[in-house]
Parts: sequence; C-alpha cells; structure tokens
Amino acid sequence: MDNDLTVSGHALIGESLEMRPVTIVVKSGIITHIEDDLHAGDNWIIPAFFNAHTHLGDTVAMDAPANGDLVELVTPPDGLKHRLLAAASRDDLVSGMRSSVLGMVQGGTAGCADFREGGIDGARALYEAASSLLPGLVVFGRDGGEQVAEGLGISSARDVPDLERQVKEARDGGKFIAFHAGERDPDDVDAALAFRPDLIVHGTYATRRQLMQCADEEIPIAICPRSNWALGVAGSRSEPPVHEMIDLGCRILLGTDNVMFVQPDMFAEMAFTHYVYRMPPALLIRAAISGSQLMDSSFFIRKGVPANFFVMDPGQSNMRFSLDNLATIVKRGSSAGIIKKFFISDS
Ligand SMILES: [Zn+2]
Repeated sequence: MDNDLTVSGHALIGESLEMRPVTIVVKSGIITHIEDDLHAGDNWIIPAFFNAHTHLGDTVAMDAPANGDLVELVTPPDGLKHRLLAAASRDDLVSGMRSSVLGMVQGGTAGCADFREGGIDGARALYEAASSLLPGLVVFGRDGGEQVAEGLGISSARDVPDLERQVKEARDGGKFIAFHAGERDPDDVDAALAFRPDLIVHGTYATRRQLMQCADEEIPIAICPRSNWALGVAGSRSEPPVHEMIDLGCRILLGTDNVMFVQPDMFAEMAFTHYVYRMPPALLIRAAISGSQLMDSSFFIRKGVPANFFVMDPGQSNMRFSLDNLATIVKRGSSAGIIKKFFISDS
C-alpha cells in the first residue's frame, strides 16, 4: 500500500472526537499535518475502530443450533463452543477467523483484543489468519498460548485453579492480563481485580464498589452488550450498568465477544448499545476506539501517530441530512458508507 495520503473532510479529532473540517496529511504512514480547512467538503473522517473483545476462533461454531446457559454454551472445557472448536480442522479454523477479520476490516475495524483458545497453536493460527489484515491485533492466549501472544486471557477467576502462577508468569514475561469478570454474577470480579489486570471484560454484574475500583485504578472495562443479551445474562438496561460506569468515570470499551453468536461489527454494537442503554453517541464512538490504547499508539486522530482511520461519504445516502453527525454514525453507520480505509501498523 502507498503510505502517503492527503485527505480532506470533517474529521473526529483527538480523544474528544471534536468534528472539524480539516485536511490531513499522511507521510510514510504517519499523520504529519492536521490543518483547518473550511473547504474540506462533507466526507466524514473517523478513527478506525478497535473491537475490545472478540473470540474469532469460534467463527466455526457460528449460529450452532443450541439452547443452554452460559456454562453449557461457552464455558471451558466442555461448553458447546469448545467441543465444536476441538472438532474443527486447523484449516477451517484459520479460514473462519480470516473471514471474520475481513468483514471487520470492511466495517472500519483495524484492531481487536481477542481471547484465543487452543494454547500456543491456537494463538499462532490467529496470527496466521489476521496479522496481515489487522494492524492492531492484540491476542490474549491461554493454556500456554500467552507465551507467544501479547497477553493472558482468563475465562473467569473461578475457572482456573493455578491462577496466581499463571498470572505471575505472564507478568514476568511482560504480558498483558485480562479477565472475563462479572458476566453472570459479581462473584469473580474481586478475584480478578486483585491482580490489577489491564482489562476487565463484561462487568455485567459488577457492583458499585467494584466499578469504583476499576475507575480508581484505571482498569478499562470492555462491555459486550449484544453478547450479554444473546447469552441471556442481561435483561435490563442496568446489565451491564453502563450509566453507573459513566458516572463513576470508568473507561468503557466496546467489544462483540463470541463470533459464534454475534457478528464482530462495531457499527451494529454501537447502534444496539445506543438504543438499549441510551449511551451517548460520543461516548460510544470513543468506546469503540479506545481499546487501541492497549497499543503503543491509539487510533485517535492526532499528529505524529500512525494513520488508522476511514472515510465515509454521507452524500451517498440519507445520512447527508443528519443534524447530529455523531448520532448518525452510531445509529446508521455501516460498512456500506465507507469509501476509503487507511490502516497502518505501528510496529
Ligand atoms: Zn468473551
């Protein structure tokens, strides 16, 4: 790809996502200039999304007909998804993950934090499938997979008997630590927080005290609303307690969780979360990007960082009538509106 580019439009600048008419100059993949430009035109320039929680591996278990609770469907080692994963060939696994990633890229996603099952081989299969497509791929391995990945992903503090040793070894190896926590009750959250993880996933039933601790210790929480509803662990607008998280100053990230049940589409996740939880559009868009702060430089548009953004043309659709561009991006955006993507690795 040619890594030089000049692009004009109304861009969401910085972490505040202030929309301004600008011309952005990219040289050798780095944003070198952002200049106000009253003639920038009507296109929207949006930071690439970072899907803060995926399980790409279970693409091969997509929409498997099943009824059951969380444990029967996805809890290791015997949940349905784990049996389907074990039965899949490596070729199918890689090709499934790659297909999902191609769809993510089309939808404006340039990175994700994936919980990858299957040990070292499982983590390697994901790199093989996705490294060349996603500049922001952050893999959380398990069962030894963390040794070749960026981090250790714990399915729940209650599932792992030698947790302390695993976390210590991963920390000693300079790895990130992430936990599923609070997905069906608050009982595994304190045990996860005790390790001061880099990421908590779900927090659906986290208590106010636990959320305060996340806010105080700046531990981001990746919420996955559609997954919570699909798996029957959410039944109201306070599961997860999105507004309590906002009020307490938690850093909220957005993830789509299992490809088995939920398409890894950040536009769809934002729209659902907006309608169900009434989460404000600017906070939602920020949550859809902020997971990229796990990397050395995030996807927010600012000078001196690798360019990771996409361009939408509202003129091609009814979106040109929007009176609130951020709300329209959240409620009506889709891959169909994207006319250009510019994703650059920071390594
Ligand atoms: Zn998960």
